[in-house]
Amino acid sequence: MQSIEWRSSNVRRDFKAALFDFDGTISLIREGWQPIMYSYFTKVLSEVSPNEPIASLETLVREFVDDLTGKQTIYQCIRLAEEVERRGVKPEDPFVYKDEYNRRLLRHISHRVQALQSGEADPEEYLVPGSVELLKDLRQRGLTLYLASGTDHEYVLEEAAALGVGEYFNGGIYGAVRDFKSFSKEQVIRDLVLPKIESGEALLGFGDGFVEIENVKAVGGIAVGVASNEKDRQGIDPWKRDRLIKAGADVIIGDYRSREALLRELF
Ligand SMILES: [Mg+2]
Repeated sequence: MQSIEWRSSNVRRDFKAALFDFDGTISLIREGWQPIMYSYFTKVLSEVSPNEPIASLETLVREFVDDLTGKQTIYQCIRLAEEVERRGVKPEDPFVYKDEYNRRLLRHISHRVQALQSGEADPEEYLVPGSVELLKDLRQRGLTLYLASGTDHEYVLEEAAALGVGEYFNGGIYGAVRDFKSFSKEQVIRDLVLPKIESGEALLGFGDGFVEIENVKAVGGIAVGVASNEKDRQGIDPWKRDRLIKAGADVIIGDYRSREALLRELF
């Protein structure tokens, strides 16, 4: 597979701002979150509906988790609660599901953050390759950089600092808050990014999830789909690629090793 797969022509613009997703797009600290969410949600559903085949529950969970990737985690938990209710059982508050998911995920990743903070781990191990060079390059071109994530705000700040990338986001870092209706990537674009640029056409978006690609395309921007293979740190994740194309990505890459050729076409 070629390292840059163009899906659109006419992508050259006078970009003024870039919006980045965090997990899977810059950070690999949360690598492995998907299987943790899939297995926990499948377990919840199989307990309320023991007669349904596990495989079909797994497929259902995977579909809705992936569709909602990029939104705050709570939306995936709200959907889980709806699926529990649909099976005739009173669900937990979605925040209960979210807390349990976070507990399981943190067990898997907290040593990574600690190793970064203590200097034991090299940030390079937990970055999509070429991230820092790309951020530097875009800043040198005068773009304002924004980071918007569906992960809780305090974790995004902590993990961006641990990776040494926080300083590049001169437009700000935005993450999920408990009052979930007061935050979305769409709101960040509409309320913070668009007022500062002439039009959505001057917006360049980077993301590995459905939602951010859709949001950037909705305002007329150019969307780079990052089909990162989070485990191997190279190549393309075919599942992500497929989703990103469906969301309307203008170009697919696996990481930023090919950033020079990518930016040559875009600028
Ligand atoms: Mg992501």
